[in-house]
Amino acid sequence: MTDDPFENMLAQMDRAAEYADVDEGVFERLKHPERTLKVTLPVELESGEVEVFEGYRCQFDGARGPFKGGVRYHPTVTQREVEALAGWMTWKAALVDLPYGGAKGGVICEPKELTDRDLERLTRRYTEGIRRMIGPEVDVPAPDMNTNPQTMAWMMDTYSMYEGYAVPQAVTGKPLEIGGTPGRVEATGRGVSIVTERLFEYLDRDLSEATVAIQGFGNVGSNAARLLDDAGARIVATSDVTGAAYDPDGLDTEVLAEHVADGGLIEEYTAGDDRPSGLVTDDDPDHITNETLLTLDVDVLIPAAVEGVITADNVDDLRAGAIVEAANGPTTVAADETLSGRDVPVVPDILANAGGVIVSYLEWVQNAQEFSWPLETVNAELERRIGSAFDETIARYDGGETPDLRTAAYTLALERTAGAHEYRGLFP
Ligand code: GLU
Repeated sequence: MTDDPFENMLAQMDRAAEYADVDEGVFERLKHPERTLKVTLPVELESGEVEVFEGYRCQFDGARGPFKGGVRYHPTVTQREVEALAGWMTWKAALVDLPYGGAKGGVICEPKELTDRDLERLTRRYTEGIRRMIGPEVDVPAPDMNTNPQTMAWMMDTYSMYEGYAVPQAVTGKPLEIGGTPGRVEATGRGVSIVTERLFEYLDRDLSEATVAIQGFGNVGSNAARLLDDAGARIVATSDVTGAAYDPDGLDTEVLAEHVADGGLIEEYTAGDDRPSGLVTDDDPDHITNETLLTLDVDVLIPAAVEGVITADNVDDLRAGAIVEAANGPTTVAADETLSGRDVPVVPDILANAGGVIVSYLEWVQNAQEFSWPLETVNAELERRIGSAFDETIARYDGGETPDLRTAAYTLALERTAGAHEYRGLFP
């Protein structure tokens, strides 16, 4: 059951339902995605071959406003995963109080095997496939795993060509030149860093003495690493799909970021000539596996890769003092119950990684106003919004009202979404 992200999301809702003030009928309604479109995407690749891809767009719940959520390119994408991610977007937007419902898109593909030209064609064909269900007031896509500002530019252009005029507000996470906002690329990582700092303040612990392990060094993991490093924490380990680099004295996050930006793999990473590099083995003090990274004795563990990495199988080996979920859905419900019982604070994904959608919202608002804000304004607004969602979550948890932070966050999100349904009523 826990291998299925959708089942995991439903189980998280069920855990919170006990503590949330939500009408039973409305709660039942919230367990079903509003709609999912499946599209077939034939693309002529640069090689001359035609490949038929499959894509999805799920609009999970739109009671609170236009649907909002990223688009993921990955070989393991499934309809159920996209639906789970759309559900998580719904709870995330409600928790940080954005006037949005939740959606998600996904295309089954291996981006590493596609050229830029192939990716452009695939993106344009996917956008055409879903264009009847998206739009500035309807459903606003954004980047997610393996998609970026260039992908959003192709989506914006394709949508705009059909409309006959430029519609920047149709997607967020765009390049600055076509209505993107400063601060969007690093927003998710910045949010992760802000909530980690808030957690340490709340726990009355000193972040400057803290050790941090980050699973995943993509856009989110690398920005969180750099910002936490700036905040004084010691990043002792990070990873990509090839394995992890571990240095108890702390990794140089700038050098590591340059190495990865140049196309380098973590398994090849060396901090200097005297450091060994080579194959990933558990015996090598500097190169460990992703599985070992998760079990390091650190103050904070930040899963920033895929779903379902902290499970009943490895939870007993976890030694981290706290977990901050930068990825969506990294912890299964069974593992969550164990962590809750052990009083390990887990800042849930719908709070910890909400920085991305918060700044997407700020981009959308700027596009609507046809006005642009400086980076300082964007960052201050991000900090204010994610900080107040953190405070509200803590307030739900602190008085013993809910057993852990995820349940606290879910009660807020479910009550807000259910409240919108109750006021709007059932149509017809
Ligand atoms: N894909 C990101 C997420 O999972 C951002 C979504 C958005 O900006 O709309 O939160």
